[in-house]
Amino acid sequence: MSLHRSPVARRSFLVGGLTVTAVGALGLPASARPAAPEIAGTADWGAREPSSAIDVLDSKPTKIIVHHTASANVDDTSQAQAFALSRSIQDHHMDGNGWKDTGQNFTNSRGGWITEGRHKSLSVLQEGAQHVLGAHAGDQNSVALGIENEGTYTDVDVPEKLWTSLVSLCSYMVSQYGISASEIYGHRDFMSTECPGEVFYGRLPELREAVGAAVGQRVVHPVTWLLLKPGAGGPAVTATQHLLRAQGLSVPVDGAYGPQTQAATGEFLRSHRIEAATCHATRVEEPGYFGGTAWTALAPVLAGDSRGDAVLALQVLLTSRGHYVPADAQYAGRSADAVREFQSAQGLQPTGVADHEVWKRLLR
Ligand SMILES: [Zn+2]
Repeated sequence: MSLHRSPVARRSFLVGGLTVTAVGALGLPASARPAAPEIAGTADWGAREPSSAIDVLDSKPTKIIVHHTASANVDDTSQAQAFALSRSIQDHHMDGNGWKDTGQNFTNSRGGWITEGRHKSLSVLQEGAQHVLGAHAGDQNSVALGIENEGTYTDVDVPEKLWTSLVSLCSYMVSQYGISASEIYGHRDFMSTECPGEVFYGRLPELREAVGAAVGQRVVHPVTWLLLKPGAGGPAVTATQHLLRAQGLSVPVDGAYGPQTQAATGEFLRSHRIEAATCHATRVEEPGYFGGTAWTALAPVLAGDSRGDAVLALQVLLTSRGHYVPADAQYAGRSADAVREFQSAQGLQPTGVADHEVWKRLLR
C-alpha cells in the first residue's frame, strides 16, 4: 500500500442522492480508491501534432461515453496493435474528418491497452480539475469523456482484456473527477447510432455496477431513449409513425419500421439539423437509425387540451402498457389520468403531464 494519500480522498461523491465525502463519511477501504491504470501517452504511440490548439475547459466532465470503433475484431492483442489503431484513428479524424486531432479522449484496445486520444487528455485526467474538449458525441463533448473501444460489438461480446481495462479506466475517471458511476452511457443514448453495439450496450449496467463497486458508490441506472433500427416493429414504431405525421411527414401507420418511415425519420433529423447517425471513430453510415436525444425534438410535452396525432402516439403506447384509453386524439380526460397512473407506477411525480421522462419509459 502506498503512503501517498490519493487526492480522491478529499473528493465528494454522489451516493444515493446525498453528497458525502469519500473517506470519512463512507469510510472507504483503501481498495475503494482505484489505482491509475497504465495509459500510453500520445508521444508513446507516435501521434502527430494537433493542427490547432486543444481546448481545455476549466470544468470537470460529469459523464463518460462508451463507443466502439466499428472496426475489425482483430486477433492481435499486442501493444503495437493498440498504437497502430491510435495512429489510424488520428489519421482518419484529421485527414478524413478535418478535425484538429483525435476525437475521443482515450482509446482501449482488444488487448486491454489504453492510449491517450486527444492530446493533453492524460495529464488533465491526472490533475482531475479540467476537461479536454473532444469530438465524439455531439453536444455532449463539453461535459463527457469519450472512450473508443476497438472492435464491433453488434452481435459479439467484448474480449475480457478490453472489459477489464475499461472498468479500470472508468473507475479512475470517476474517482479523479467525482463523476457518478451512474453517469456512464453509450453513444446511442445521445445520438442515432448503433454505437457501442447492441451486445456491448447491454453490458453498460454491469459496467456501472463494476465501477460503482470499485469506488464504493451505489449505482442508479439511468433511463435512456429507445434506439429504432431498420426492421423494428410494434407499438413504439406505430407511435413513432403518429409522431412523424404530427410533424407533417407522410408515413403509413402500420407498426413496421420500413423504408418509408426510415426515410421520414431521416428527413426529420436533417430538417432539425440533428447530426448524422454515425460513430465518430469510423463514420460508418447508419441510415434508418433513430434515437438518443433526437426523441426530445420529436416527442412533444402533452398536457391540458393537447390533441392530434401526437396524442394518438401516446394513446398507442399507453394501450400497449395495459391502460385503457380511447384512440380519440384528445389528451384531456382518460389519457391524462392514465399518464398519472403510469407516473405513479414508475415512481415519478403524478403530474398528468406527458413529458420526456414519460415518453422515454413508454417507448422502451
Ligand atoms: Zn460512437
